[in-house]
Amino acid sequence: MNTKTVTSLTNNTVKAVRALHMRKEREESGLFLAEGLKIVIEAIDCGHAPKIVMYGPDAADHPMLKKAVAACLKAGGEVIEVNREILEKVSRRDNPQAVVAVFKQVFTPLSAIVPESAPCWVAMQAVRDPGNLGTVIRTADAAGCGGVILVGDCVDPYSVEGVRATMGSIFGVKIAKATIPEFLAWRGEWPGSVVGTLLTATVDHKSADYVKPSLILMGNEQQGLPPELAAACDVNVKIPMRGRADSLNLSVATGIMIYTVTG
Ligand code: SAM
Repeated sequence: MNTKTVTSLTNNTVKAVRALHMRKEREESGLFLAEGLKIVIEAIDCGHAPKIVMYGPDAADHPMLKKAVAACLKAGGEVIEVNREILEKVSRRDNPQAVVAVFKQVFTPLSAIVPESAPCWVAMQAVRDPGNLGTVIRTADAAGCGGVILVGDCVDPYSVEGVRATMGSIFGVKIAKATIPEFLAWRGEWPGSVVGTLLTATVDHKSADYVKPSLILMGNEQQGLPPELAAACDVNVKIPMRGRADSLNLSVATGIMIYTVTG
């Protein structure tokens, strides 16, 4: 394979890849890190060529690695073989994946979203936990949703932890972002139901009438949905809380809502 071997942590490519753990670096470069050969191949199959492929000795003979390397080189990217120590530092894990790759971030503008292209879309307001967001992206993909819209000040969907939690679904659904005023203006044109989720709602999530395409709006982990967003929904629903817990985990509640709406 047309690759070079790197053994130093001071190598510029290794330093640039490690820096993608920092949000500032991701924002400035527009790049992110994905780990695992399976995910890299899924990305390529979805039309995303890696900018950098980094692989360790354990992956060198894997038949799928050739496909990843070919896609990267064809797109003008860089491929390096590294040792296990470098992979551990890049992944910040003792047991790193044998292949990691760098991709370009993609955000779909709100104006490019076609609501009718999917039965359900999910909007997350001020989601803070990368694991929650990654799990929601994975669930949205699994259920055939069109995408996830990040409303207000949200965690970065392209954080290393978040991308890990998506298990590759970051490449499978559209990701958009909007301020609250932008979301409210865009929501005004939504052709189906806009569904808020509120612990104080009086409508049970199973009894509402969901007109497709439905847009489910989920609130922040601590504060829940702010009143101005709840008021902008066609209906606010609650998933019953039958025990002592006063709320569900955000990603669990989102999963229940997605499958309730999509059937
Ligand atoms: N203390 C917050 C509150 O009062 O809303 C709890 C927020 S909850 C952990 C995070 C989000 O998950 C909520 O904004 C809502 O979108 C969703 N959620 C959690 N449990 C829910 C339930 N039982 N019914 C509807 N939505 C729920």
